[in-house]
Amino acid sequence: AELDTLDIVVLGVILLGSIVYFTKGSLWGKQKDPYATSTNLNGMAARPVRTRNFVEKMEESGKNCIIFFGSQTGTAEDYASRLAKEGKSRFGLETMIADLEEYDFDAMDTLPSDKIAIFVLATYGEGEPTDNAVEFFEYIKEDGVSFSQGNDDAPLDNLNYVAFGLGNNTYEHYNTMVREVDRLLTKLGAHRIGAAGEGDDGAGTMEEDFLAWKDPMWTALAAHMGLEEREAVYEPIFAITDREGLTAESAEVYVGEPNKMHLQNSAKGPFNAHNPYIAPIAESYELFKVKDRNCIHLEFDISGSTLSYTTGDHIAIWPTNAGDEVDRFLRVTGLTEKRGQVISVKALEPTAKVPFPTPTTFDAIIRYHLEICAPVSRQFVSTLAAFAPNEAIQAEMNRLGNDKDYFHEKTGSQLFNIARLLEHVGNGETWDKIPFSAFIEGLNKLQPRYYSISSSSHVQPKKISVTAVVESSVVMGRKDPFRGVATNYLLALKQKQNGDPNPSPFGLTYELNGPRNKYDGIHVPVHVRHSNFKLPSDPAKPIIMIGPGTGVAPFRGFIQERAQQAREGANVGRTMLFFGCRKSTEDFMYEDEFAEYKKALGDKFELVTAFSRETSKKVYVQHRLKERAAEVNELLSQKAFFYVCGDAANMAREVNTVLAQIIAEGRGVSEAKAEEIVKNMRAANQYQEDVW
Ligand code: FAD
Repeated sequence: AELDTLDIVVLGVILLGSIVYFTKGSLWGKQKDPYATSTNLNGMAARPVRTRNFVEKMEESGKNCIIFFGSQTGTAEDYASRLAKEGKSRFGLETMIADLEEYDFDAMDTLPSDKIAIFVLATYGEGEPTDNAVEFFEYIKEDGVSFSQGNDDAPLDNLNYVAFGLGNNTYEHYNTMVREVDRLLTKLGAHRIGAAGEGDDGAGTMEEDFLAWKDPMWTALAAHMGLEEREAVYEPIFAITDREGLTAESAEVYVGEPNKMHLQNSAKGPFNAHNPYIAPIAESYELFKVKDRNCIHLEFDISGSTLSYTTGDHIAIWPTNAGDEVDRFLRVTGLTEKRGQVISVKALEPTAKVPFPTPTTFDAIIRYHLEICAPVSRQFVSTLAAFAPNEAIQAEMNRLGNDKDYFHEKTGSQLFNIARLLEHVGNGETWDKIPFSAFIEGLNKLQPRYYSISSSSHVQPKKISVTAVVESSVVMGRKDPFRGVATNYLLALKQKQNGDPNPSPFGLTYELNGPRNKYDGIHVPVHVRHSNFKLPSDPAKPIIMIGPGTGVAPFRGFIQERAQQAREGANVGRTMLFFGCRKSTEDFMYEDEFAEYKKALGDKFELVTAFSRETSKKVYVQHRLKERAAEVNELLSQKAFFYVCGDAANMAREVNTVLAQIIAEGRGVSEAKAEEIVKNMRAANQYQEDVW
C-alpha cells in the first residue's frame, strides 16, 4: 500500500514516541488515546507519545493561538473548537484546541507575548474544576507556583489570555472556575484581553451568553494582535475518504466499537471515560405505578470487570441514538444510501483529533458518536448556510444564523435538533452539499450520561444500581415531546429484558444489540466516576438526607448500607430521609424496600414524605424539613451530616435557604449568621450536595 505524507509523519512520531517511551516512560505515563494504532508492552492501546509542553507543541505546529478547555459534558470543548474555527476563518489565526489534562503548565511563562492562550472553563459541582482541569487548577493555585524560568513577582507577564466560563447560577459557586483562574493568572502577572465571559446554564442562556461575549472579544483580540478580519471561508478540518474494498463486515472497520480493544474483542481495564466496560444488565424494572411516566431501576453486573465503586459514586452510561433520529439525519443529509459505506476520517491538521475511531461507516458515526439530538446552535446554522440546497433557503439560514430574535421567534421554543432544523428550513430539499466534516466539527461527541449509584458497595460490591427517570419534555409548537437520549435507550433495554423482543418505547427503535451484536444479552457500555458524596465513616453519626424524585437514588444506597450495618450489629445513628414525589400511589419509588430497611433499622430510620399533588396546597420536601426544625437542629448539634440530592435549579437552593432559617430560629442568630454557618458546614463536608 502507498504511504501518504500523513502516514509517514505518523510513523515518524510513533518511532520517536517509542524511543521516548522506553527512555523515560514514567515521565510520559499518560496513555489515554482510545483510538491509538499502536500497542505498548502491556498490550494497552497507546498513542504516539506527544509532548506535554504546549509552547513547544505550538512552536512545532506553527500555531499562535491555543484554546484550552476544561470540560465535563462536552459543551466547553465544543465552544473551544468553535472559537478555534472562527479564529482561523475570520482572522487567519493559527489555532489549536487543547485538553487541559494533556499538557503541563510549568512552561506557561515561555509563551511568546505575540501568541495567545484562550481558556474555556466549565465549573463543575460545587465550584470544582472539571475532571480534566484538576491538575491545571492545582498547579496555578499553588502557593509559590514555579515556572520554568524561575519565579519573580510577575512570572506570567508574557502571557496574554482570553477567558470564558460555563456555569449555572442556581449553584452557590457560580462560574467559580473562570473567576478563580482569571484572578490567579492576573495575580501571576498575565494580561487578559477583553472581558472574561460567563455563560449561565441555569438561566438557559449559555449559548446566547457565549455568542454575545465572543464578538467584542474578537474585536479586542484583533486590536491587540493587529489582526485583519477577512471574508470567512469554511475550511474542513477533516478529510473523509471512501474506503473501496472495505465493507461494514471487514474486521478492521469500526461499526460503533468505542476503541481498538473493543474492536478486537480484547477489551480490558482500566475502564474509564475513554474505555467503557460492556456491562450486562442483571435486572431491570419499572418503579412508577402510573402509565405516562417512567422511572427505571437497573442493576449492572460488574463482576466480570475490574470496575469497583463505593457508595455515593456515579456511573456513566454510554447511550446509542434512537434509530428514528439516525434515519432522519441520514435522510435529510442525503446519506441514506451511503449509510453503510466505509470511510476513513483524517484530521487535516496535526492538532485536530478525530473524535471516534476509523475506518467506520456514516451510520456508526451518527448512531454511536455524535450528539445529534441536542438543540442546534445558532452559530452552526450560520456555518451551514453556505451549503443550502438553494438561494432562498440560504437566505433564510443566514437570517436565522445572524438574527438572534428571528432565530428565537422561528425555532426557539421548538429546540430543533440538527436534522429537524434542516428538515424544517429545507422544505423537503436534501442537504447533500454539506461537507461531512462540518458535522464532525459542529456537533458534540455523544456524551455518556451520569447517574448517582443507588446501591451500597458494602451490600452489593459487584452490582451497581441505577434509578433513572425517563426524560420526556413537552416542546411548545411541536407535536411530539422531546425524548431524552439515554433514558429512552435504557427504557427500551428494560422492555427487551422483560420480554418485548422488539421494544419501541414511544415509537423509538434502537440497535440494542450494539456493534456486531456485542451488546446482545442486554449489555450497556459504562464506566464509574468516583465522587466525594460520602457517608460519614462512623455509622453512629446521624444523617439527614433530602432526596425528592430521583434525588433519592444515592440515599437508597446509603440506607441499604446502614440497614446492613445494623443487621451486622453496628451502632447506627439516626438516619432521616426526606422524600418527595407527586402521589403516594403513582411515583413513590422503593416504598416496599424502605419498609424492609425500617425493619432492620427500627426507630433509627425515619422516612418523611411530601406528596405534592395529594393536597390542595403543594407540599415539598423543604416544607417538611421546616416542620421538623427542632429535630433537625438537635441532630445538627450532634454533628449530623446533611445531604441534598436531585434538582439543582430549585430544590437544592430552597433547601439551603430553609436550613439557614431553621438554624437562625433554633439558635437565635441572624439569618446572615445562619447562612455563614451553612457555608461552613459545606466547607467542612458536613453539608454535601449531589445535584444536577
Ligand atoms: P438528554 O437527551 O440528555 O436531554 C436532557 C434534557 O435536555 C431534556 O430533558 C430536555 O429538557 C433537554 N433537551 C435536550 N435536547 C433537546 C431538544 N432537542 N429539544 C428539547 N429539549 C432538549 N438522572 C436520573 O434520572 N437519576 C440519577 O440518579 C441521576 N444522577 C445524576 C448524577 C449526576 C452527577 C448528573 C450530572 C446527572 C444525573 N442525572 C440523573 C441526570 C442524567 O445524567 C441525565 O441528564 C438524564 O437522565 C437525562 O438524560 P437523557 O440522555 O435521557 O436526556
